[in-house]
Amino acid sequence: MKVSVLGAGPAGSTAAYYLAGAGIEVELIDKKPFPRDKPCAGGLFNPLLYEEEFPHLKGISGKNVYRAQFSSGRYSFEWASEAPLVKTVLRKDFDHFLLRKAVEAGARFLVGENLRGEIVVDATGVRSPRHYREAGICLVHDFETERDIDTVYIHPCFEGIKGYCWLFPKHGYANIGVGAYLPQRDIRTIYKRYIDHLRNRGVITVSGYPSTAKLIPFAPIDRFYSRDRLIAGDAAGFVKPANGEGIYFAMLSGRIAARTISERRDFSWYEQQCREAFGRYLHPVKFNRSRLLLRWATEKAVKIGSRDEDFSRIMVENFFRMHEYRLGAHFIRKILK
Ligand SMILES: Cc1cc2nc3c(=O)[nH]c(=O)nc-3n(C[C@H](O)[C@H](O)[C@H](O)COP(=O)(O)OP(=O)(O)OC[C@H]3O[C@@H](n4cnc5c(N)ncnc54)[C@H](O)[C@@H]3O)c2cc1C
Repeated sequence: MKVSVLGAGPAGSTAAYYLAGAGIEVELIDKKPFPRDKPCAGGLFNPLLYEEEFPHLKGISGKNVYRAQFSSGRYSFEWASEAPLVKTVLRKDFDHFLLRKAVEAGARFLVGENLRGEIVVDATGVRSPRHYREAGICLVHDFETERDIDTVYIHPCFEGIKGYCWLFPKHGYANIGVGAYLPQRDIRTIYKRYIDHLRNRGVITVSGYPSTAKLIPFAPIDRFYSRDRLIAGDAAGFVKPANGEGIYFAMLSGRIAARTISERRDFSWYEQQCREAFGRYLHPVKFNRSRLLLRWATEKAVKIGSRDEDFSRIMVENFFRMHEYRLGAHFIRKILK
């Protein structure tokens, strides 16, 4: 049996790594040569769990960040954790690392777009917004910085968007971005205003407003497989809509795809395993129907967090997938108190 994995992002390289490890002949094909960059905040949320799930990531370089600041309207709070909330990486290095691991395990890497194998893992990343029930748009850039920043800044509903603005610190860089549900008007203006906002508060001293735009899926497709194809990662819409996180789910789906093929399981098993492993994270954001309601709920939650340490911890740990909380239930309980 020969398997073609199309796309060497986190989903494809992980699938190829585990397929090759199971002794299967695997071709990993990407339309771009590596190392290549990818517009992304590069946050590995809850990095200790990553290392537990994917031991081949041990020792990967990146910046562990322990502090987060959430702001909305007039309110803001900070939370410092004992365990790292996120490890930030440059996607150019991270994706190349994963590809090298797949090749070391025995996968053959090819640059191109043609398929040869009997079975295909489609890990070609996000498609057009029409492909998903919901999708978003992001603008992002890694700004070089003179001093390292040690806090992640999250600003939900900045200027009323259905989404959030962020700063993810990396070694030598500040990754600044905005992500919002489509349709979203004037996203470039919002991005500029957020950079000005950070500058005015003395968080950054960077100049200019460079950015790259990238689509992001916010809902999984209806079926994750066809007769000869398993669909993994962004191609299947495996992104947590509440924060835009997708690397972890891309890697999990890549590993499940490899198991499905190497254990010669029915492809429906792949879908069932994906839903069981991470389907709960792919639910739409609560309070999302109306822009006004979302803005009100976000500001209220940050306001509560600014006065209530327990609630701020819950919000931060939920965002970074450190623990699973029913955030809506906690929120309503706090409001009724
Ligand atoms: C601005 C932004 C910020 C983000 N920040 C985070 C974050 O901090 N943390 C996080 O967890 N997630 C984040 N995400 C989501 C994350 O980037 C994706 O979920 C993740 O990259 C999905 O991995 P993937 O392997 O499915 O797809 P990709 O990483 O997109 O890889 C797909 C690969 O397929 C190749 N390809 C495409 N078409 C073909 C073809 N026809 N033939 C051959 N090759 C092809 C591409 O060249 C690419 O290398 C962010 C997304 C955006 C847009």
